Amino acid sequence: MNLFTESNLSPDILKAVGELGYESPTEIQKQTIPFILSDIRDLIALAQTGTGKTAAFSLPILDMIDDTSRKIQFLVLCPTRELCLQISKDIKNYSKYMKDIKTTAVYGGSSIMDQIRSLKDKPQIIVGTPGRVIDLINRKALDFSAIHWLVLDEADEMLSMGFKDELETILRETPETKQTFLFSATMNKEVERISKNYLTKPHRISVGSINEVKKNIKHEYYVVGYRNKKEALKRLIDANPNQYSILFCRTRMETQEVADFLMQNGYAADALHGDLSQAQRDTVMKKFRLKNIDILVATDVAARGLDVDSLTHVIHYSLPDDPEVFVHRSGRTGRAGKDGISISLIKPEESRKLKQIKSTTKIDIVEKIIPTGQEVIKAQVGGVFEKLFTEHEDIFEFDDSLIPDLNAFTKEELVHKLLQFQLKDLALYYKDKHDLVEQKFSSRDDDYPRRDRDRGRDRDRSRGDRDNRSGDRDRGGRERGGKPRRKNEDMVRFFFNLGKKDQLKKLDVLDIINKATTPAGGSKKRAEIGDIEILEKFSFFEIEKSFKGELLNNIASMKFKGKDMRAEEAN
Ligand code: AMP
Repeated sequence: MNLFTESNLSPDILKAVGELGYESPTEIQKQTIPFILSDIRDLIALAQTGTGKTAAFSLPILDMIDDTSRKIQFLVLCPTRELCLQISKDIKNYSKYMKDIKTTAVYGGSSIMDQIRSLKDKPQIIVGTPGRVIDLINRKALDFSAIHWLVLDEADEMLSMGFKDELETILRETPETKQTFLFSATMNKEVERISKNYLTKPHRISVGSINEVKKNIKHEYYVVGYRNKKEALKRLIDANPNQYSILFCRTRMETQEVADFLMQNGYAADALHGDLSQAQRDTVMKKFRLKNIDILVATDVAARGLDVDSLTHVIHYSLPDDPEVFVHRSGRTGRAGKDGISISLIKPEESRKLKQIKSTTKIDIVEKIIPTGQEVIKAQVGGVFEKLFTEHEDIFEFDDSLIPDLNAFTKEELVHKLLQFQLKDLALYYKDKHDLVEQKFSSRDDDYPRRDRDRGRDRDRSRGDRDNRSGDRDRGGRERGGKPRRKNEDMVRFFFNLGKKDQLKKLDVLDIINKATTPAGGSKKRAEIGDIEILEKFSFFEIEKSFKGELLNNIASMKFKGKDMRAEEAN
C-alpha cells in the first residue's frame, strides 16, 4: 500500500484524508491499517507521536464502525487533555463525511456536567483521559457494553503518570470480546506487565519516528538581516549546486514572494501554499516529483502531504516557532540512506528562538558565514564535476570529427575554458559583488556577545561542549566554538600595507596569516584570527598575541601578487 487510494478504506474516509493532504501512508499506517482491517488479534505498536499513529488506528476502525448503532464502540485512552483534544479533532476530521458518526472528548480540568451533557448526543467514539473516564463510569454516564476497540495511546506515559489502577479498571470494565491496541513510545516493565495481563497473544509492530532527529543531516545556520535575506538565499543556493530541496516559509505571502524572486532570477522553483487551488497544488507537486522544478518553496501545512525521498537540502527561510516542526522539516532530507543538509537563515533578533530549538532538539546547528562570490564559484566548479561524473546519459550521438584540432592547448587550459564558458553568467553576476556584511545578533540579547570585532571567536558559547563537525570551522581553518571566550588583550592588531587597490580580499588575508604563522610541516597549534578590515590602500587584522613575532618574521619575506608585504603593530 503505497497510496491511500490503494487501501480498502471507504470513499468517505479517503475523501477526508485526501483533503488533509495525506497521500501516502506513513510506516506505521502501512503496517497497522491492513492488520486492523483483517485481524482479530490484539496489537502492541511501538511508535512515538509524529509517526501518524492517530490515523493508523482511527482510519481502519472508522471503516468498520457501525454507524446505525448509537452505542459506544471505540474508546481511546490517552494521558493528557491536550492529546485528548488533538486525537478527537483528528478523528472528527477523518470522519467528516460519515454524518452519523459522533466523537466526544472527556478529560479532567473541565466541567464534568458539560461532558455528561455532551454524552447525551450518544457518540460512538470516546476519547478520554483515564481519571475522567473513571469518574464518568462511577456516575454511570458511560455505557461500555458495546465496545469493540480499545486504544491505549502513549501507554508508557499514562503509566508513568500514575494511571495504572485506572487503566486496569477500564480494561476490566470493558467487554472481553474487544480488541485492544496498545501504543507506546517505549517498552518498559510496566507496559510489558499490562500487556501480559490484559492483551491476548498480541501482534507486535515497531516503527521509528518521522520526527526522530536523524544523524545523517548536517545542520547549518547563517545570520542575515531582512534587507539581505534574499541575496543571501541566492548565494546559498548557488553555493550548493545540484540541489533538490524544499524551502520552508512561514506565511503564504512570504512563500509566493520568495518563489517569485527565485523564478525571476532563473531558478527552477515554484510555490506551494494554501492560496493555490487544489489543481494548482497538484500541478506544482507533480512538477517537483518529476524534478521539473528543483526548489519547492512551501508553507509547513502545504508541504505535509508531499512525500519525496531524495531531497538533498531543506532550507528554513524562516524559523518555525515549534522545535518539533524544525525537526520534522529537516527530516525530509537525509532519507533512504542518503546524507542531507539543513540550512537555516536566522535574523539577528532570532537568537533566542535558535537557542530554544537547539536546546529542545539537542541538534548541533553550526554557524556558517554567507559565501563570498569567489566561494560560490568554487562550489559551482565542484558542482560541474560532480554532475560530469555522476550523470552518464548520452543524450546525442557525438561525431568526433566535429572536434577541432586542440593540440595547442593543455588539458588544464581546455577545462578552464569550458568552465569559464559554462559559469560565465554566474561569474559575471558575482564579479563586483561585495561580501554580504555579516549581521550581529541583537545586542539586547544577552545570550550572545556583542560581536563588533570578535567575529568567529565567541559567536556561540552554548555550542562549546558539543562535538564540532568538520563544517564548524571558519574560512581560515580555525575551530569556531568549543573554546572559551578569549579576551581582547590576548590579541594584537596589525597594520598591513596592502588593500583593496591590490585586490586583497579577506580570504587572502586569512591565507597569508595561515602561511605566516604555521611553519611548514609543523603540527603546531594555529593562531586565532580576529577582526579583518580591508581599506582602499591598506588593511588591519588581529591575531593572537603569542604569534606576533612569528608573523612579523615570516611576512617580511612573503609576496602577494608580486608585491612585498609589510606588517607592523597598529597603535
Ligand atoms: P500523529 O503521530 O498521529 O500525531 O501524527 C503526526 C502528524 O502527521 C499529524 O499532523 C498528522 O496530521 C500528520 N499525518 C498523519 N498521517 C499522515 C500521512 N499519511 N501523510 C501526511 N501527514 C500525516
